Amino acid sequence: MVKYALWTNDVETTSIWHNTLRDETGLKAWKEGMPVLLDIYRRHNIRSTFFFTGHIARLYPDMVRMILQDGHEVGSHSFSHKKEDGLDALPFKAQLYQLQTSKKILEDISGQEVISFRSPALRVGENTARALIESGYRIDSSVASQRFDFFLSFGSRKKFKWLAAPRLPYRVDENNIFKKGNSPLVEVPLSATLFPYTSTTMRVFPFITGVQRHLSHRENNWNGKPIVFDIHPNEFLDESGEKRAIERRNSNLFAYLLKDVLRSKLKMKNLGPAAAPLYEQEISFYARRGYISVPLQTYCRETGLFGPLGAPTKQAELQ
Ligand SMILES: [Zn+2]
Repeated sequence: MVKYALWTNDVETTSIWHNTLRDETGLKAWKEGMPVLLDIYRRHNIRSTFFFTGHIARLYPDMVRMILQDGHEVGSHSFSHKKEDGLDALPFKAQLYQLQTSKKILEDISGQEVISFRSPALRVGENTARALIESGYRIDSSVASQRFDFFLSFGSRKKFKWLAAPRLPYRVDENNIFKKGNSPLVEVPLSATLFPYTSTTMRVFPFITGVQRHLSHRENNWNGKPIVFDIHPNEFLDESGEKRAIERRNSNLFAYLLKDVLRSKLKMKNLGPAAAPLYEQEISFYARRGYISVPLQTYCRETGLFGPLGAPTKQAELQ
C-alpha cells in the first residue's frame, strides 16, 4: 500500500511574536518564510497544499503564484483570519461569503480551480460542511480527530467534537462535518494523538512530536491513515527584535497569567531559523520509510476518496 505524508501549509498574516494579525508580517512570510519552505520541499521532492487567506492573497498575489511552478496546490484558508470571523461563530450566509470570496480571489490569481479548504484556527461549525459544498469545495482539512486542546487554541469547546470524529479520511455528513455521510465533501483529518501533530507542538514540545511520529507511522502501517502535518511560513520568522505587548484576552488576573502570558511565552520556543531543521527532521523520518508527499487533491484522487464520478450524493437521493 502506498504510504502518504501530506505536508500542508497555512499562509496568513499572523505574527506569532506579536500575537496578532499584521500585514507587514504577511510580507515577511512571503519574502522570508515561504522561500524556506519551498527550498525544503524542493530538496525532498515534496508537493504539498498551501492554504492562503483571501486577505493575504489579495495583498500579495505573487506569494500565491510563487508556489505554482513547483506543482503545489493552492487551497483556501477562508478570507479573514480575524477571531470574530471564525466559521464556528458566523451565521451560514457570512460563512458563504468567507468561503466564496477567498475561492474567487485565489482562482483569479492562480488560474486554477480551488477545491481544498482549511479553516483558520480549525474553527468549523456543523453547517460549515453545507457552506463548503455550496461554495464548490471538495476537500476540507479542518478536523483534528482525537486531538485535545487544553488552552492553546481558540474555540476549544466546539473542538470536543474532534474526540469522536472518524480517524481515517471520510465523506462527510452534509449536516455535520464531524460525522461520516455521503455528501460530495471529503474530510482529510489532521494528524493528532491527543496532542496536535503540528509545527507548534514540534517547536514547543519536540519530545512529544518525537513520540507522535512513531505512533503515526505505526498507525499508518496498521490502517493506512495518511500523515497530515500543518505548518506556517510565519514560523521561520524572527521578529524578536521588535517591541511587543502581550495581548490581554482574559480579564481575570489568574486566567491572564495562566493563559495569555504562558501561552505567548511557550509559543516563542524555536521560532525563526531554529524551526527549519526541526521540520526537516520530521520530513526525513517519513521519507526514509518510503512515504510519498502529494497535494491533498492528488491524494484524494489517487485513493478514490472522491468516489466514482456522478456518485449520488445525499441531496440527489432526496430529490
Ligand atoms: Zn491559520
